[in-house]
Amino acid sequence: MEQMAVSTSAFHPEDDEFDRNCPRICGVCGDKATGFHFNAMTCEGCKGFFRRSMKKKANFTCPFNGNCSITKDNRRHCQACRLKRCQDIGMMKEFILTDEEVQRKKEIILKRKEEEAIKEAKKPKLSDDQEKTIALLMEAHRKTYDESYSDFNKFRPPVRSSSEMEASGQSFPIESPRDLCSADYFGSFNSSPSDGCRLSMDMSQIAKSHFSSFFGIPQDDSGNSKEDSTLSMLPHLADLVSYSIQKVIGFAKAIPGFRELSADDQISLLKSSAIEIIMLRSNQSFTLEDMSWSCGNEFKYNINDVTKAGHSLELLEPLIKFQAGLKNLNLHEEEHVLLMAICLLSPDRSGLQDRARVERIQDKLSETLQVYIRVKHPPPGNWLLYPKMIQKLTDLRSLSDEHAKQYRSLTFHPAHNMQLTPLLLEVFSNDDAK
Ligand SMILES: [Zn+2]
Ligand SMILES: [Zn+2]
Repeated sequence: MEQMAVSTSAFHPEDDEFDRNCPRICGVCGDKATGFHFNAMTCEGCKGFFRRSMKKKANFTCPFNGNCSITKDNRRHCQACRLKRCQDIGMMKEFILTDEEVQRKKEIILKRKEEEAIKEAKKPKLSDDQEKTIALLMEAHRKTYDESYSDFNKFRPPVRSSSEMEASGQSFPIESPRDLCSADYFGSFNSSPSDGCRLSMDMSQIAKSHFSSFFGIPQDDSGNSKEDSTLSMLPHLADLVSYSIQKVIGFAKAIPGFRELSADDQISLLKSSAIEIIMLRSNQSFTLEDMSWSCGNEFKYNINDVTKAGHSLELLEPLIKFQAGLKNLNLHEEEHVLLMAICLLSPDRSGLQDRARVERIQDKLSETLQVYIRVKHPPPGNWLLYPKMIQKLTDLRSLSDEHAKQYRSLTFHPAHNMQLTPLLLEVFSNDDAK
C-alpha cells in the first residue's frame, strides 16, 4: 500500500521549482525530505506515517507531557507528538487521496498514455522503403557531385576576354567522338543490340555534321567568325555542362526503378531532363551573396560569364531568379535529391513509351518527399514547401524551353557547334520528330 501514496508534489509541480533553493529537510523529524507531501516538506517516513494515521483515524495519546521533540531517530517513540508536529507544519488530510481517487487518477494517467500512443502511431512516418530510397539517392548524389570541383581543372579553361582567348588557343572538346562511341555514357542502356547500334549511328552522324560544320566556316561565315569568337566562355562551359550530364546519368541510374525502364525510355528521360537537373544541382554552388555560382576556390561564374557562352538574358534572368528562389527554400539535402529524382522521372516527357510506369515511380518519389517534409522539416520552413518545390519544376520547364531555343540558335553557327562536346550534341539534339 505504500506505493499508493500520492504526494502533493504531483499536483503542484511548481513547488519543486519554488523549493529548489530551500534545504530539503523534513519539517517533522529533520530527516532528508523528498518533497512536498500533503502540503508540507517531509521525509518519506513522515509522509507514510501521516497518511496511515489519517486513514485509520488514529487517536494517539502522548505517554509523556505532550511536548516531545521529534527527531529522525526518535520519531517512532511518540506517535501523538509526531502527528501533532505534522499538523503544525501544515500537513492536511484533505490532500490525501481516497482509494477511489487514487484509482481514478491512475486511470486518467493510463488513458492519457494510451491517447499519446495512438497519436504517435497516427503520426506520418517514413516507411523502410522510403528511408531506403532517400539513402540511395543521397549516396548517388554525393558520388556524382564533387564538392571540391577539382575536375573543373580538366575542362578547357575559362576565358573571359578575347585577348586571353587568343593566347589560350582553343582546341577540341575533351571527349573525342571515339570515347562516346565506346558507349561509356550510354553503354549500359544497351539492353538490346539494336539500341546500341542506333546510338552508335547517331554518333557517327554527329561526327559527320561536326566536321562538315568545321569545313563550312571559311566560305560561308567568314564575316561572322570574328564576332562568333567572342563566345570565349563557350568551351569551358560546354565542357562543364557535358561533364554534368555524365554525372546526371550516374545519378539517374541510382533512382529506384529507373534502370528497369526500357533503354529508350531511360534515354528519353535523360535527354529531356538533363538541362533541368543541371540547373537544379547547380543550386548547390549558387550563392545569394553575389548571385553567382561559386565552385570551390578557383571557379566562379556570374551571368556575364554565361552570356559569353552564347546565352542571352532571356534565359539568364529567369535562371538567376529561379536559383535565388530555390536557394531561399533552404531545402534539406534529402529534399534536394528527391526533387531532382522527381524531375527526372516526369511521365509527360516527349518520346516516352511506358508513361504509366514512369508515373508510378514518380508518384512514389513524390509521396516520399511529402512524408519527408511532414516528418522531418520543422516549421516555419515546411509551410507550403511541397507545392513550392513542385512550382520549381514548372519554372524549370520554361527555362528548359528557353535553353533549347538558345541552344538551337547557338548550334546554328558552325564555329560554335564545333566547341560543343559530342555528348552535348547527342543529349541536346532535337530528335523529337524521329
Ligand atoms: Zn520526518
Ligand atoms: Zn509526546
